[in-house]
Amino acid sequence: MVRPTVAAAEREIGVRHPVLTHGFVALVDYMGDDAAIVQAARVSYGRGTKTVRDDRGLIRYLMRHRHTTPFEMVELKFLVRLPIFVARQYIRHRTGSFNEASARYSVVPDEYELLPAEAIRRQSARNRQGRGDPLPPDVVQQFRGDLDRVSREAYAAYQRALDRGVAREVARLLLPVSYYTQWYWKTNLWNLFHFLSLRLDPHAQEEIRLYAAELARLGRCVAPVAFEAFEEFELGGLTLTRRERTAVRALLGGRTPEAACAEAGLPLTREDGTPMSTGEGVEFLEKLERLRSSDPLP
Ligand SMILES: Cc1cc2nc3c(=O)[nH]c(=O)nc-3n(C[C@H](O)[C@H](O)[C@H](O)COP(=O)(O)OP(=O)(O)OC[C@H]3O[C@@H](n4cnc5c(N)ncnc54)[C@H](O)[C@@H]3O)c2cc1C
Repeated sequence: MVRPTVAAAEREIGVRHPVLTHGFVALVDYMGDDAAIVQAARVSYGRGTKTVRDDRGLIRYLMRHRHTTPFEMVELKFLVRLPIFVARQYIRHRTGSFNEASARYSVVPDEYELLPAEAIRRQSARNRQGRGDPLPPDVVQQFRGDLDRVSREAYAAYQRALDRGVAREVARLLLPVSYYTQWYWKTNLWNLFHFLSLRLDPHAQEEIRLYAAELARLGRCVAPVAFEAFEEFELGGLTLTRRERTAVRALLGGRTPEAACAEAGLPLTREDGTPMSTGEGVEFLEKLERLRSSDPLP
């Protein structure tokens, strides 16, 4: 029996798509496609009709109703090269399988991430985990110069330690998180969707979002109909909390957003009356803003 393949995915096998300075994402292999999802679902729902339109409708139904296990029938294996500071975020996704290059076994290559100048920005005043406004050019230049120098000095010390016989597993302690690692990542399509919904989100760090965008592009090649449904119902969807539903009812009743927040108990100011920059009320206003904007998908 011939294994089912997808022409767009076959063309991608082994192609390294650059991310950041030395990183890349490559699709190594995959098992299953949109048809595998449909086939699995038909175990539940019976064979039914088999036109492409029906298959698409079934996949969209599964996604809408959070019947997720059919999406687990598609497996994807990637090779990813990434800086350690991104890898630390990425590896928190426990439901995939990782196999990482060993810095105990092999010498770490002299490759570190400097980031482009536009990525070096001020600490965000609103998001404690994020970046905000631009910095003066001299601050950016100084930072990148320091990062370059510190990384190079660290690697020189690492090389010196290796030359003097220090074990690789110990010498690596000298290397900062700007250095690169790489791994195989095998995951099923549902876990990939979960990863993407967290890591394409604007709250995720910019650098992991770049990786997520490439992974999404490759995943879309394997199962385009499932991806379309994911974008429609998960990525492009918006959930409302109980209080937010109360606020939406107030908005529909003609109240201003501020009055609707007050009615729903969504705080916009602190006890001393100063405006809040984070919190449930602010996040609700952000959701309204998303609804007003065209909100392009990543
Ligand atoms: C914007 C952002 C900021 C973050 N900030 C921090 C931070 O400051 N500090 C920090 O430590 N982490 C942080 N994280 C990591 C975050 O807490 C998660 O560990 C990470 O996103 C992986 O998500 P996950 O557990 O859903 O994924 P996976 O590990 O892939 O798990 C997928 C799903 O499986 C289920 N699952 C897996 N394991 C368990 C388990 N043991 N028990 C119950 N259910 C399980 C859950 O439903 C989970 O959603 C951040 C993540 C994001 C996106």
